[in-house]
Amino acid sequence: MKKKILITGAAGFLGSHLCDKFIQEGYKVIGMDNLITGDRKNIEHLFKNEDFEFYHHDVSTFVHVAGSLDYILHFASPASPIDYLKIPIQTLKVGSLGTHNLLGLAKEKNARILIASTSEVYGDPLVHPQNEDYYGNVNTIGPRGVYDEAKRFQESITMAYHRYHGLETRIVRIFNTYGPRMRLNDGRVIPAFIGQALRGEDLTVFGDGSQTRSFCYVDDQVDGIYRLLLSDYSHPVNIGNPNEITIKDFAEEIIKLTGTQQKIVYKPLPEDDPMQRQPDITRAKEILGWEPKVTRSEGMQKTYDYFRNLSQEELHRSEH
Ligand code: NAD
Ligand code: UDP
Repeated sequence: MKKKILITGAAGFLGSHLCDKFIQEGYKVIGMDNLITGDRKNIEHLFKNEDFEFYHHDVSTFVHVAGSLDYILHFASPASPIDYLKIPIQTLKVGSLGTHNLLGLAKEKNARILIASTSEVYGDPLVHPQNEDYYGNVNTIGPRGVYDEAKRFQESITMAYHRYHGLETRIVRIFNTYGPRMRLNDGRVIPAFIGQALRGEDLTVFGDGSQTRSFCYVDDQVDGIYRLLLSDYSHPVNIGNPNEITIKDFAEEIIKLTGTQQKIVYKPLPEDDPMQRQPDITRAKEILGWEPKVTRSEGMQKTYDYFRNLSQEELHRSEH
């Protein structure tokens, strides 16, 4: 008998790659999504597969799935700053009410549940690099608070279900991840810069570009999540690539990669934009035997190839 897994946020960037992974590993997959930031196109190739089913559903309302379930991956949530600033209430609801619904479902089905947390629980971090014991520095009432606090609540309620109900839970703290199927207009820095290069626009660096990020290729991220789900570890684990770069240097790398003739222009830094971010992945190495394998130049080449094969119509839909 094949194991059955429910993946929420299935039509999104990470969710769709996770659907592919679990189908490939021989699972029956139920993908659930309300398509608020996702795209049916990301999972269309699975619609004819008899091991895949799609439910169009908002997980912030009661979630029902017929039959047994072995695992749940809760990945539904807007994930990019411009998305969660546009739909702040839905963001808070899916992290809180949505997570509560899925924990309830996991309890009813006696399924193991993994929830997608984020490096944003560390806020604008005062320790560097960030390990899982750091409690974070979050502005609860700032514009990013709707995402950060929803994810912090999500971790708390997950640990409460684990401790009080004995539910099997896993928490992954995902650091900036990129790759094919990101939405070109989701505002995150990689689609933003590549989209600008492809349209012949200048690259917009926010602030003076001295803030740092550490980018993980999607295949590495999916492998880390897969290992965590199958491990017996219930405390949070960082999954990300520790290779850190300033946003200004990164813009220069993208100028070289794409061969664009455009230049860098500077725009104001968004409120509460974290100044530095780099995962400490000691725990993932020790517990999961995991570390990233794909270099930034390999991963960026694959990502660029994906974006440059999009149609002109898709490319220009991404202007905002
Ligand atoms: P995404 O926007 O591409 O995917 C999110 C998906 O969730 C979308 O398909 C969207 O339609 C769906 N969704 C949102 N609210 C929903 C609801 N109420 N009911 C059903 N579906 C809903 O984003 P992503 O980058 O794939 O992120 C997926 C998850 O990983 C999120 O939980 C995000 O917080 C987390 N994460 C991602 C990153 C990253 O770098 N990509 C970093 C940290 C955390
Ligand atoms: N950024 C930028 N120009 C853009 C989009 C983003 O300089 O057009 C910066 C942004 O201010 C942040 C970094 O790139 O410092 C990463 O932003 P992203 O939205 O990808 O993710 P997050 O801030 O959540 O890490």
